[in-house]
Amino acid sequence: MSLRALLLAPPGAGKGTQGIRLAERRAVAHLATGDMLRRHVASGTDLGAEAEGYMERGELVPDHLVVSLVMHEISGPPPLSGFVLDGFPRSLVQAEAAYEWGRANDRTFHAVICLAVPDDELVRRLLDRGRADDTEETVRNRLKVYEESTEPLFDFYRGRGILIAVDGTGSIEEVGDRIDAGLSGLGV
Ligand code: ADP
Repeated sequence: MSLRALLLAPPGAGKGTQGIRLAERRAVAHLATGDMLRRHVASGTDLGAEAEGYMERGELVPDHLVVSLVMHEISGPPPLSGFVLDGFPRSLVQAEAAYEWGRANDRTFHAVICLAVPDDELVRRLLDRGRADDTEETVRNRLKVYEESTEPLFDFYRGRGILIAVDGTGSIEEVGDRIDAGLSGLGV
């Protein structure tokens, strides 16, 4: 079976690292909206020009832009049968769009992995990393946006019985093992 999973985690929690690891282990595509958006900014596309300011401020890029970006990658034809989404959906509007697509194409998500890391640790990790949007002010705003826009997704996915809560502290291996155990628990 091709895994269709989503990683839901605050900035700095290790979504990228775990997303790549999981996609490799399951031999499915790894789709990271932050990376896709940064590629558009770097190559100067219209979408990149529109997204750039939001990213610099640590705000969400408008839903319609991100939804069409992801749909372009997964819709095919034929629709991708397996993928790990990293950084999408990040709002209820995006989650509903993804669910509609999944139902229409017989490709709803099997699992939503939520990585939990204490805020102080997140800020420390992000400031160490030093990406262009990793200044203290942007980092704090991204954490606030996560709480306001992305945390409501927990209830959406918990209600569908596919949410796996994982402790995101410890080594890459330890966190990866917890993710694998959570997926086994769901039978995927
Ligand atoms: P992080 O999780 O560390 O904030 P990402 O690379 O996932 O890093 O995202 C970087 C930025 O890209 C976000 O702050 C936001 O501006 C934009 N972005 C990424 N994914 C989405 C999305 N699904 N919806 C809206 N904006 C997004």
